[in-house]
Amino acid sequence: MKVFNTLTKKKEEFIPLEEGKVKMYVCGPTVYNYIHIGNARPMIVFDTVRRYFEYKGYEVNYVSNFTDVDDKIINKAIEEGVSAQEVARRYIAECKKDMEGMNVLPATTHPLATEEICGMVEMIQELIDKGYAYEKNGTVYYRTRKFAEYGKLSHKNLDDLRSGERSLLVTGEDEKEDPLDFVLWKPKKEGEPAWQSPWSDGRPGWHIECSVMAKKYLGEEIDIHAGGEDLVFPHHENEIAQSEAANGKPFARYWMHNAFLNIDNRKMSKSLGNFRTVREISEQYNLQVLRFFMLSAHYRSPLNFSAELMEASKSGLERIVNAVDSLKYLLGSAKQEEMTAEEQEKAAKTEEFVRKFEDAMDDDFNTADAVAAIFDLVKYANTTAAGESSRAYLQSLLNLIVRLSGVLGLKVEKQEEMLDEEIEKMIEERQAARKAKDFAKADAIRDALLEKGIILKDTREGVQWKKA
Ligand code: AMP
Ligand code: ZN
Repeated sequence: MKVFNTLTKKKEEFIPLEEGKVKMYVCGPTVYNYIHIGNARPMIVFDTVRRYFEYKGYEVNYVSNFTDVDDKIINKAIEEGVSAQEVARRYIAECKKDMEGMNVLPATTHPLATEEICGMVEMIQELIDKGYAYEKNGTVYYRTRKFAEYGKLSHKNLDDLRSGERSLLVTGEDEKEDPLDFVLWKPKKEGEPAWQSPWSDGRPGWHIECSVMAKKYLGEEIDIHAGGEDLVFPHHENEIAQSEAANGKPFARYWMHNAFLNIDNRKMSKSLGNFRTVREISEQYNLQVLRFFMLSAHYRSPLNFSAELMEASKSGLERIVNAVDSLKYLLGSAKQEEMTAEEQEKAAKTEEFVRKFEDAMDDDFNTADAVAAIFDLVKYANTTAAGESSRAYLQSLLNLIVRLSGVLGLKVEKQEEMLDEEIEKMIEERQAARKAKDFAKADAIRDALLEKGIILKDTREGVQWKKA
């Protein structure tokens, strides 16, 4: 299996630290809002990486954090007049719902930054003791000049960076020894959440979180560390500096980064007003379509989100779902149990599609080609399965399509259709729950309907619904 490693800028053979096991850390979202479709890309991509390792027989320990203390969360909390914790908790719950919709498996552990402060204080102290960090007026900085390999991940020219950063230095940061030094601990400002430490009452910097959580849940050396490409510098560069200085060992063997998701060929940003949340997409599409869309490109290629591409993804996914559905239909009326000799030969030929699928995935998780292999298999099933096919043959085709799609996290078996009356009844129950201010129940009903592919839209004229 080959994995592209940002550290060496090469595709390398994957060799686990421990035979049959993969220790993987994926930087998770900062929870101050619903996740957007850009955040969904690493979630879907690295969940697929995990699923493929599992398909190959590896045991994967998958850790992905939630950053639940941050300026953006604090600002949102001030805006709403609630605590930062309340904001974070709410959006973690919402994020988990979106993950379920996208069929992203829960991580083995989802640590929260605010629950790991002790470990962060310890690691910062260790860095100070070893001369890799220093304190100034309650703030602790990492001494980047002390870490000889600083810059090895991002392959950046540090002198250029230093002069760039120097002109950007903001007031309050001029106490740094070097423009590239970064914050490990900062004192609190009025009204901010804070924890005690030997340096000041305050909170940790963002980078130290991941170094500490990776160490606690996976160990000092891990196989894969992943995230979006914007995290290469400074976040991951800083994580390496912290972890390797503190632990005296290489941190992660393979660094994987997904390229960005753009929207209508432009960067997605709040100021352009072209932000799309996963929740918004779920009002229009089954989130399996979003997952299929994300996997239709290689994870290291930029991907453009557009209405046309989503429609194309919808039809692509339907091709697979329809093939599965017609195999089930044929199975319902098949007369012959066992395969004929001819069918056995045909079934043996499907190995070719499995090989194509695995070759694609072995080549740095080329999901676009893996999807193409599934399409080939679907075409083969559509042309070789017929009314006179045996149950065994139909079942083998069905199992294979479902299994390979499942490795990509795609659910391709149709949900049982709900009757209109059943849907209307559930909508009425939801309205009653809302009236009684039982929003948890109302949400649960909405989610249950969504699970069945029924999308609700609240309008001034009442609730409208449609099938995804
Ligand atoms: P954040 O909440 O900004 O820390 O982002 C969480 C994850 O989403 C990180 O791995 C980011 O690199 C990734 N990410 C954010 N925006 C995009 C985007 N437009 N395309 C792809 N990945 C993104
Ligand atoms: Zn991180």
